[in-house]
Amino acid sequence: MYYFDEIDGKKILKSDLIKNAQAFFTTREICICDKGGNDNKEVKNNLGIIENYLKTKLISPTQTHSANVDIAIENKFEYPDTDGLILTKNNFAIFLNFADCTPLIFYDEKQNIGAISHAGWRGTAQKIAQITAQKLINEYKSNPKNICVLIGPAICGKCYEVGEEVYNKIMDNPHPFPLPKSEGKFNVDLKGINAKQLADIGIEKIDICPYCTCCNNEYFFSYRKDHGTTLRHSAVLKLN
Ligand SMILES: [Zn+2]
Repeated sequence: MYYFDEIDGKKILKSDLIKNAQAFFTTREICICDKGGNDNKEVKNNLGIIENYLKTKLISPTQTHSANVDIAIENKFEYPDTDGLILTKNNFAIFLNFADCTPLIFYDEKQNIGAISHAGWRGTAQKIAQITAQKLINEYKSNPKNICVLIGPAICGKCYEVGEEVYNKIMDNPHPFPLPKSEGKFNVDLKGINAKQLADIGIEKIDICPYCTCCNNEYFFSYRKDHGTTLRHSAVLKLN
């Protein structure tokens, strides 16, 4: 179940599925990413607030809608072309950035490891959810039954309309919630498809965020609704 909490009076979104790690989504009130390349003072200030709160520094990769998943290393700050980051240490934190695409936060309480990945339509078509989970399972001996996944705020199936080409690429994947389509237009439920991909490899503990970046645009950024905004909300993870 998702609920809003606060850091320094600014809203963040959490789920009670992950209790023994710091896992949350930022909102408009505490934006820590501006893709615009501006020297955004508010973003820098917010980043400081979160670093203070977590008592550690934060690492973020350069996301390119790939299906590349890397392992975060302390004092390494460059992760080019990386849309999934695995965290195995508790002396730093990671974050990835979103505006409509689906954020996925993974956490295995038994092994005390986790990951965040970025599943837009390209990442979803390439099954980045499964690629990330399989790395935890194969390289870090995670049992899929112990992996909790938060499927965070993302554009909902009603709001996410795509053309036929994109639809067909995504639909190579099983689609549990087909939605009615009008002529040449197709609706896609990215959160639902990612949940299905995770269930297909034995992951049972999944919490799907009820908030849509368009329908609930007062809380989150939407690339579509905010007309190509450079601001992002973020998924943040720190191990205990
Ligand atoms: Zn919506």
